[in-house]
Amino acid sequence: MQLAPAERLHARVARVTSALAERQLDAFVVTQLSNVAYLSGFFASAAAAVVSSDGLTLIGDGRYADLLAERARACDFIRVVQVPAATSYDQVIVDVLRPFESARVAFEATDLTVARHDFLTRTLSQAGWSSSLIATSGVIENERACKDSWEIATLRAGAARLSDVAKCILPKALAGRTELDVAAEIDFELRRAGFERPAFDTIVAAGPNAARPHARPTTRRIAPGELVVLDFGGVLNGYCTDLTRTVAAGVSGTREARLIEQVVEAQTAAFDVVRPGAAPEAVDAAARQVLTTYGIGEAFTHGTGHGLGLDVHEAPRLSPVRNSTSEPPLAIGMVMTLEPGAYFPGWGGVRIEDDVLVTAGGAEWLTDLPRFWHGGS
Ligand code: ZN
Ligand code: ZN
Repeated sequence: MQLAPAERLHARVARVTSALAERQLDAFVVTQLSNVAYLSGFFASAAAAVVSSDGLTLIGDGRYADLLAERARACDFIRVVQVPAATSYDQVIVDVLRPFESARVAFEATDLTVARHDFLTRTLSQAGWSSSLIATSGVIENERACKDSWEIATLRAGAARLSDVAKCILPKALAGRTELDVAAEIDFELRRAGFERPAFDTIVAAGPNAARPHARPTTRRIAPGELVVLDFGGVLNGYCTDLTRTVAAGVSGTREARLIEQVVEAQTAAFDVVRPGAAPEAVDAAARQVLTTYGIGEAFTHGTGHGLGLDVHEAPRLSPVRNSTSEPPLAIGMVMTLEPGAYFPGWGGVRIEDDVLVTAGGAEWLTDLPRFWHGGS
C-alpha cells in the first residue's frame, strides 16, 4: 500500500489548520477514521488525532506501534502518542488536550458518540476546564471533496484496474451459475488485481433480484435471458472505486435491451452536465429527465451518484434537492460516480455506473469499458 507523500499530508493539515483559524478554533479532536487517515496516512481500525497550529498529534494503540513509529519518522509535523494498554483512547485525548485549557476546542459532531462526548466533557471539567467542546461538521470532509494530484493518480489507477477486473468477469456472468459464485469470483479477481479489499459488499443480482438496488447475492441460479446487475469496487492505497454493469445472460428480450439503452442514455446525459460550477442536483436532473421522458422516471429510486475517495460514499452527493438545501457546486478535482438505474419489482432492473473526474473542461471518465455486455448462455 502506497501512502500520500509527506508534503501532501502536510498541505492537508495546513488547510485544516487555516479552516480552524477561520472558525476561531484552537484545536480539533478528529475521531472519524478516514479523516485521521486523510491527514496522517495512518490507516487503522482505531485511531484519533488532535490538530492545532502546532501540527498533528496522532493517537494509536500498540497493535499499530510499527506503523505509528513510521508515520512519526516520515512526517516531521506528526507527533505520535501510543495509548497504553491499561487506558483508553478517550483518556489519552483528554491528556493531549490539557495544554488547551480555556482554548476553543472542536470535535466532529457527526462521528463522536454521545457516550464519548459525555466522557470527554466530564473528565475535562473534573480537570478544571470551564469551557465546553464545540460541535463541528464537515470541516475535513469539505477539504476531501476535491482531490489533489496524488489522489487523482491513485483513483485513476484504481479505476483502470477495476475496469480490467470487469472485462475479465462480465463475460462469465453465465446462466446456470449462482449469484454467490459470481460474487466470490469478483472478490477473488479484485484481490488478484492488487486491491487491498472490496470497497463494499459485492452485488450480483439476477432476474427479479435485480429490481433491488442493494440486493445481496444468493444461491439462486442465473436463468437464461435474465438481466444481471453486477456492482463492485476495490480499494487501492485507501481509495475506493465503484462500477456497475448490467449484463444480459445469454439471449434476452427487447425489453431488457431497450432498458439498458435508456439507462446508458441517462448516464450520458448526466455526464454532459458535469463541469466545474455545475449544481450536483442539475447532474441528477439530467439523468432523471431522460428516464422520465421514456416513462420510467418513477423506476429510478435513488440518486444519480456519489463522491469517491477514502470512503465509498462521500461528497459530493448527486441527488434531487432535499429540504431545499443545495449542495456546493461541483469543482475541479472532484471524483464521483454516475449511476442511474431503473427497477421493476418482480421483474428486474438495470443500473450502469462509472467513475468520473471533474476537469477544467468538464469531465473525464475514469472507468473505461463498454456499457453493453452479453454473458454466455
Ligand atoms: Zn456501485
Ligand atoms: Zn456507487
